[in-house]
Amino acid sequence: MVSDELRQREASGRRMGVIEGAATRLGGGGGRIVVLDDHERQAQRIFDELAVEHRPVVESDPDKALIAVRARADLLIVNIVAKDFDGLRFAAQVRSDEATRHVPILAVVDQGDRARSVKALEIGINDLLSRPIDPEEMAARVRSLIRQKRYTDFLRNNLDSSLELAVTDPLTGLHNRRYMAGQLGALVRRATRGGEPVACLLVDIDHFKRINDSFGHDIGDEVLKEFAVRLATNVRAIDLACRFGGEEFVVIKPDTALEDAHRIAERLRLHVSGSPFRVGGLEDPLNVTISIGVASTIGTEDTPDSLLKRADEAVYIAKAGGRNQVVAKAA
Ligand code: GH3
Ligand code: MG
Ligand code: MG
Repeated sequence: MVSDELRQREASGRRMGVIEGAATRLGGGGGRIVVLDDHERQAQRIFDELAVEHRPVVESDPDKALIAVRARADLLIVNIVAKDFDGLRFAAQVRSDEATRHVPILAVVDQGDRARSVKALEIGINDLLSRPIDPEEMAARVRSLIRQKRYTDFLRNNLDSSLELAVTDPLTGLHNRRYMAGQLGALVRRATRGGEPVACLLVDIDHFKRINDSFGHDIGDEVLKEFAVRLATNVRAIDLACRFGGEEFVVIKPDTALEDAHRIAERLRLHVSGSPFRVGGLEDPLNVTISIGVASTIGTEDTPDSLLKRADEAVYIAKAGGRNQVVAKAA
């Protein structure tokens, strides 16, 4: 079910163009397999059989096996009728451990031992292999479990990075505009229904075009990155620092009234103009200034658009007033 779910989401991610590359070349060979078995001859036979196609290690001690599984195994084969240890308990431990819970488990069980087989499946063992072990059957089950694990890993990793991509600005690592828009909607709704006000800082770097024109686009990018660092280190954890586009940034501050937002914006302005930017590739530090427009939610009819519009009008006034300044717009 999880695989199906991930596969479906990956497919839609691919349609949106977020995920690149396909789940090709994810074979079932060359697997790192940990075999936990106290039956020496049987363990040796399993090893010999698997070594043809995979990279097995055999352990008879559960503690050592656990270390091996944690070191990125593709599959665990455990004898659950072993005499020296409780194989079922070990399997349960692997299944519940954060570091190993995605490792598939193949349990070796006696033919016809129905009770133990059911128990094994109940605790999340993926597949069973009955004794006496048929080598071909084992090879087929192992291959299929490994292939499935790799595919699921692939989907999971891709999904994580595609979700990350979908909310992050790649140049600065700040939230992107789309993410901000989604969050702002909910915050403004809450504020206008009697909650605490939400403030918005719209920050625009002054004469950024000149930086590009004088030093080149790459230096411009470096300035944007350095600014993003200063921005991110000057906000609270609950604030949202976003790149709005180009050289414009937005900070959303929940539970913040206009006067407080104004004060914070002023501090940010000084933090930028007060110490020049040291940018790789430039000998002399660069003086950078910003203009900030501040707005905060008012009344019960405010919307994200009107809030951003007031902040934008405030930026315009700050620019017209000579730049390197903060303007707050009350209404
Ligand atoms: P103002 O003080 O009025 O804001 O002047 P400005 O030059 O900052 O504003 P303007 O809007 O004229 O120019 C913004 C420039 O930012 C133009 C665009 O080429 C540049 N820019 C936009 N995105 C990027 C980027 O990702 N990297 C770089 N290096 N430059 C960018
Ligand atoms: Mg601009
Ligand atoms: Mg600008």
